[in-house]
Amino acid sequence: MEMDFENRIVAPEFLSADSDIEVSLRPKTLDEYIGQEKAKENLRVYIEAARKRGDTLDHVLLYGPPGLGKTTLAGIIANEMGVNIRITSGPAIEKPGDLAALLSNLDEGDVLFIDEIHRLSKSVEEVLYPAMEDNSLDIIIGKGPSARSIRIDLPHFTLVGATTRAGQLTAPLRDRFGVILRLELYTPEQLGSIVHRSAGILGIEIDEEGAVQIASRSRGTPRIANRLLKRARDFAQVVGNGIITKESACIALNRMEIDELGLDSIDRRLLSTMIKNYNGGPVGLETIAAAIGEEAITIEDVYEPYLMQIGFLSRTPRGRMVTPAGYAHLGMETDGQQRLI
Ligand code: ADP
Repeated sequence: MEMDFENRIVAPEFLSADSDIEVSLRPKTLDEYIGQEKAKENLRVYIEAARKRGDTLDHVLLYGPPGLGKTTLAGIIANEMGVNIRITSGPAIEKPGDLAALLSNLDEGDVLFIDEIHRLSKSVEEVLYPAMEDNSLDIIIGKGPSARSIRIDLPHFTLVGATTRAGQLTAPLRDRFGVILRLELYTPEQLGSIVHRSAGILGIEIDEEGAVQIASRSRGTPRIANRLLKRARDFAQVVGNGIITKESACIALNRMEIDELGLDSIDRRLLSTMIKNYNGGPVGLETIAAAIGEEAITIEDVYEPYLMQIGFLSRTPRGRMVTPAGYAHLGMETDGQQRLI
């Protein structure tokens, strides 16, 4: 069975249904950006130093699971540096010429944001090296024996690259980033602040306990928190007086089959398949992927980070294992039997 992201409410990827609110909810300054203290403090220093020197900021690589605020942070960098941002993605840049055109159209100091930068093709990546290093483009003119290479100068720019895993990047590309920042899953407290902030912007009334419910079921991911907030508002308007309370939030989340820890039916199926078919592991990623009908890379990028953060899954050299806490959450005994409660 192919996973249908459009139907998966806790998918951390960007869904088309998010587009109406994401832009308005994006923080514009470092001060507005909640959490990620380490990344923020580093950036603050680098931005201030670059501004004092009247320089462009060094190239920045952001990595971490989807929906944690990488695109948002790229926009903030541009805003704090007082420059424009151009947004594109690895798969969208098909040919070396596409990247050359993008680069030569930048204004001095601009930020170029490349999402999913690990998906650049090799020939495109090679155009990027001299651009990142010496602000120049090597262009081949003509064909065959008469072909010659000319070098043209580019404006100074800051490349902000985003990837779900830095390990997927080639070494020559990774080495050309001066700043490498890892984004972490957010704590429920930080997500609570994000929910309150978003509710304020969208004019949604929510009480403290309602926000706690949404925050603690958002898998550490702001994009999911914002999406659940929007759905919870719909439920609050239908079943209550429009104010999101603990009660109306719980009704909404239960209807969406999101449990008290933010796990949905696919997470639970992943864990229960590992327990029932493989005795809880260790079992290889590819085997799990085949058993539940998902892509291995999706499991690694989307499901595992959160299941590991809450201590339900562990990675061992011999494969993935469900932890005793994972068994307990599903109401299973370690022999794989459903416990009667
Ligand atoms: P990514 O590029 O990592 O997939 P985005 O930058 O698109 O994630 O973030 C998704 C949404 O989450 C944004 O629209 C923004 O509203 C919200 N968001 C992300 N990080 C934060 C944060 N630190 N504080 C407040 N809102 C955030």
